[in-house]
Amino acid sequence: MSFADLHLHTRFSDGTYTPAELAAQAQKHGLACIALTDHDTVEGCAPATAACAELGLEFIPGSELTSEFNGVETHILAYLMDTANAELLAEMKKFQAVRQDRIREMCAKLNEIGVGLQAQDVFTLANCASPGRPHVARALVAKKFCRSFDEAFDRYLKKDRPAFVPKFKMSTARAIELIHRAGGLAVMAHPALNRTDDIIPEVVAAGLDGIEVFHTKHSPAANKRYMDIAKKFNLLVTGGSDCHGMSKGRPLIGTVKLDYAYVEKLKERHAQDLSKANASA
Ligand code: AMP
Ligand code: ZN
Ligand code: FE
Ligand code: FE
Repeated sequence: MSFADLHLHTRFSDGTYTPAELAAQAQKHGLACIALTDHDTVEGCAPATAACAELGLEFIPGSELTSEFNGVETHILAYLMDTANAELLAEMKKFQAVRQDRIREMCAKLNEIGVGLQAQDVFTLANCASPGRPHVARALVAKKFCRSFDEAFDRYLKKDRPAFVPKFKMSTARAIELIHRAGGLAVMAHPALNRTDDIIPEVVAAGLDGIEVFHTKHSPAANKRYMDIAKKFNLLVTGGSDCHGMSKGRPLIGTVKLDYAYVEKLKERHAQDLSKANASA
């Protein structure tokens, strides 16, 4: 039997591995296939394709879009889309600008309470187009304003803490539409984390293709619940570790190993959708 990990981050968003390091880790953990799902970007997909090819691993292009459905934050994973799609790239660029502005706002709030972190410190550390709160946390530690990543969140960055800034998000329907228009499949990430159960039927009606049943933070009971939901709504099943390298302590790659049979199903559905689109074009 072979295995895949379809939820991974690199330093192109808030992970710490380069695509080459990630591919090497995947090989070390005996994975046959990985997908890259950096937040609001596909920049890592080209180098990851090359790194995986070198090691004989299968690579699936992906991304994780932060969206909102009726006020509920929902992360939508995109798979097998055209990473050169102009509309997708333009929309991602917009949300990368939102992320960068938010870093400036968070630093201004920190400065107001006497914490002298500069936005440039965060940008230098992040060194990517899609920075987020984990980069602010790491910069707070690097500049000795906090002792740990968790302390940075607990004191400053969590919701209701002084440097928290809400993020403007695209609607879930728009995220799904964008992914479909780029020829990809849209999958709801870690439903147990965002408590999205109530909205699943409506998100399915908006075109959702799959659901991330297996995730590091899902309990066995959650795995079963989402497997039942996948069956009920005829959704594809995916899974992944959501590894961020060393960003949040230990690397999680290897902790979730998805049966490759689910990757086959994902690719089958993708091929069917493509032939349908070609037939109607
Ligand atoms: P952002 O998208 O910039 O709001 O950042 C969200 C990221 O921060 C996610 O990857 C979370 O895992 C991480 N995060 C959110 N809350 C916490 C927390 N309380 N402690 C540690 N990490 C957190
Ligand atoms: Zn992340
Ligand atoms: Fe997520
Ligand atoms: Fe993620």
